[in-house]
Amino acid sequence: MKPTILDCTKAELCAAITPSFRAKQIFQWIYSQYVDDFDAMKNLPQTMRTTLQERYDIMPLHILNKEVSSDGTIKYLFALRDGKTVESVLLRMKEAQYDSNGELLHHAKYTVCVSTQVGCKVGCSFCLTAKGGFTRDLCAGEIVAQVLALKKDNNIAAERRLNIVYMGMGEPLDNLENLAKAITIFSDEDGLAISTKRQTVSTSGLSSRIDQLGAMNLGVHIAISLHAVDDTLRSELIPMNKAHNIASIIEAVKRFPIDTRKRVMFEYLMIKGKNDDRSSAKKLVKLLHGIKAKVNLIYFNPYEGSTYERPSKASMVAFQEYLIAHGLLCTIRDSKGMDISAACGQLKEKTDQEMR
Ligand code: SAH
Ligand code: SF4
Repeated sequence: MKPTILDCTKAELCAAITPSFRAKQIFQWIYSQYVDDFDAMKNLPQTMRTTLQERYDIMPLHILNKEVSSDGTIKYLFALRDGKTVESVLLRMKEAQYDSNGELLHHAKYTVCVSTQVGCKVGCSFCLTAKGGFTRDLCAGEIVAQVLALKKDNNIAAERRLNIVYMGMGEPLDNLENLAKAITIFSDEDGLAISTKRQTVSTSGLSSRIDQLGAMNLGVHIAISLHAVDDTLRSELIPMNKAHNIASIIEAVKRFPIDTRKRVMFEYLMIKGKNDDRSSAKKLVKLLHGIKAKVNLIYFNPYEGSTYERPSKASMVAFQEYLIAHGLLCTIRDSKGMDISAACGQLKEKTDQEMR
């Protein structure tokens, strides 16, 4: 199988071809014109097009399934070249708005949620992705391709900026090298030009890797999937908490280079009867003391066979109000795409079943 050219940073492409200024043109064809055939790159000499064709593929995935939610969220299932599948979600954060004359006031705002692995090794007890175990890491090109494919499929103009959250399938920090490369390719000004400030890496808390990501000084944000305030419950939810406990994560977060205007996001998955009580809220306030934090409460999203239950809206709101009253910023993640297979891993599971 030929490597995908999406796996190349511009610097790598410059080094691989002569003359190197052609790399910029190739990037523009792929990321601005959404061209998926080297032969269509008309300003390249024919010999170069042929060489590229011999050496590389462009798109390493295709759309296998797609579900559109009534709120505009679109969930994709992609097939990779080895037949493995991963999910991505396009979230419409704000609709485009027009004035009474039909003039555009502002464009729609998008966030893309991308996967970094096929499956996941972490094995969280509430997560459907974990049930299928771990298959393999995605290469950088396969991470980049998800955003490119979504932009193309939705006719999103090249110059429209969007946000990326690494919150799809897999643990991004368990695939750090390819993640870092994808971050770099995404932010290339001749490519998708998605500034690292618009990219958020969500992690279940591999504390030593949080340090490694910080040391790379990429300028990305981090989101910590905290979910529990004591190590006993956290280890039940996220088994590797035994090796990377809450204290070690908090310490790593304190060392992480953060833009002074920004906050570290702590995700807190609310599970009925497990972590949705007042005493957990109290402990959370204490735990995050001294950190510029923002808490995002997430409703547990049940799936067939899951043992946990979705919390009531009242308990979510009471939890949120307690945190806010004690000085924390706190939002409740609106359950975008609730009518489609919204939680991590659910579209893959459904499609796999249908194909069986
Ligand atoms: N592995 C990383 C990123 C991918 S998981 C991490 O764990 O942070 C992305 C998010 O989906 C996590 O915050 C996780 O808690 C959430 N998630 C997983 N299963 C869920 C479910 N059943 N309901 C709601 N959120 C879920
Ligand atoms: Fe992996 Fe994240 Fe799912 Fe845990 S929640 S199993 S870390 S994808």
